[in-house]
Amino acid sequence: MESSLKLFDTLTRKKVEFEPINPPHVGLYVCGPTVYSDVHLGNVRSFLTFDVVFRYLNFIGYKVRYVRNITDVGHLTDDADAGEDKIAKKARLEQVEPMEVVQKYTYGFHEVMKIFNILPPSIEPTATGHIIEQIEMVEQIIARGFGYEVDGSVYFDVRKFQEEEGYGALSGRNIDELQNNTRALDGQSQKRDPLDFAIWKKAEKGHLMHWPSPWGEGFPGWHLECSAMSRKYLGDEFDIHGGGMDLKFPHHDCEIAQNIGATGKAGPKYWMHGNMLTVQGRKMAKSEGNGFTPEELITGNHKLLEQGYSPMTVRFFMLQSHYSSTLDFSNDALRAAEKGYNRLMEGYQRLEDLKVSESSSVNIDDWSAKCKSAMDDDFNTPILISHLFEGVKMINLVASGRETISEDNFVKFKKLFEDYIFVVLGFKLEGNESNEDGAHTQGLMELLIKLRKAAKLNKDYTTADQIREELNSLGISLKDSPDGTSFEIN
Ligand SMILES: [Zn+2]
Repeated sequence: MESSLKLFDTLTRKKVEFEPINPPHVGLYVCGPTVYSDVHLGNVRSFLTFDVVFRYLNFIGYKVRYVRNITDVGHLTDDADAGEDKIAKKARLEQVEPMEVVQKYTYGFHEVMKIFNILPPSIEPTATGHIIEQIEMVEQIIARGFGYEVDGSVYFDVRKFQEEEGYGALSGRNIDELQNNTRALDGQSQKRDPLDFAIWKKAEKGHLMHWPSPWGEGFPGWHLECSAMSRKYLGDEFDIHGGGMDLKFPHHDCEIAQNIGATGKAGPKYWMHGNMLTVQGRKMAKSEGNGFTPEELITGNHKLLEQGYSPMTVRFFMLQSHYSSTLDFSNDALRAAEKGYNRLMEGYQRLEDLKVSESSSVNIDDWSAKCKSAMDDDFNTPILISHLFEGVKMINLVASGRETISEDNFVKFKKLFEDYIFVVLGFKLEGNESNEDGAHTQGLMELLIKLRKAAKLNKDYTTADQIREELNSLGISLKDSPDGTSFEIN
């Protein structure tokens, strides 16, 4: 199939033509969450970036297999193979089973994804569900000479890999600089070189999560699961691997090393990295105290928030900036996004009532080509949104009679306008979720006020009074003023 999609490949650091290995199929792998705590908004941005990539690839006709994993073992509190397993630590602190921790935060993660209308992936594999595949990969890495065992743990030989294949291409880190910056940490004495990383770790006595292996009881290293699971579901070579910028090193550089180490093939053809969400210029992180949960954001119940914002406002706010730029969170920016999003949706609602004419004075093909080329240019959502506002302008001009649209063009325009808003950008109509009751009450009250006004105009004072009195008995009072009637719930 023909496509003119270009994407920025973070490995070659170039914007390149997207040419899938086996079209129309596309394999997309994205690193998922480590399920040991609640998801915050910074995480949401990363998953949203790849939600739009997934949506757009589907939209232009590819058959996408989207794999996004759940890390439920092996992610240690320190990147350098030291510290405790994050999930085991939480289980110990809360005196529950590791599986309870995993289950709780996996449910929570799915809930948050749903709130922001982020589509589920095609496959969501877990690390603990793929221990056999990971052990197999460790064996292959050892067999090809890139791994060695010391007392029940297996390490990846970074120095050897560097000499034969080159290590750190993604992050651009120099191995000698890395060497100088590596701290001597407990448990590293077994390594031939401090740069080596664990692909299998021996479970010390009392370690909660462990499995039998050819090297004794242990658990996989964190980087290994993504190599093993992408390979299992997408093959030794697949199209796109994505993740947050902070995963480039060491996680993704290690994945490349493991892939080549085990199979001789690097895995993904293209790498994509989403940028961070900052708050007042600082990375959003739980440890900084600036990581809102989605609930805090919607209710406004956080010291940095001046009000609550709806999930679609937040989605709009994020998509108004390109995924590769940093995005700074502020109340002003969110309020502006709220206005913008409402303006877009009002335009969409006005679309329904447009009257068609014999001929068109607006150029729909031109507009449609601009929308497509924005998305074809490395998923440029802010440019697409600006074209959608051009669309709103067009709707207003046709509605006011200053421009005309033919029936054919109207059908084409309506379909595209809806597709870009709902299918590609993934917005959904609100008012039925977070403030469901509020929206209903507002609508019902407006209806009753209208009926009462009509009754009065017809001099049917009995009905008008009945409406007022029965509302009164429900604790709702009506106030008449020269501007109209308002209501108050007591
Ligand atoms: Zn990963």
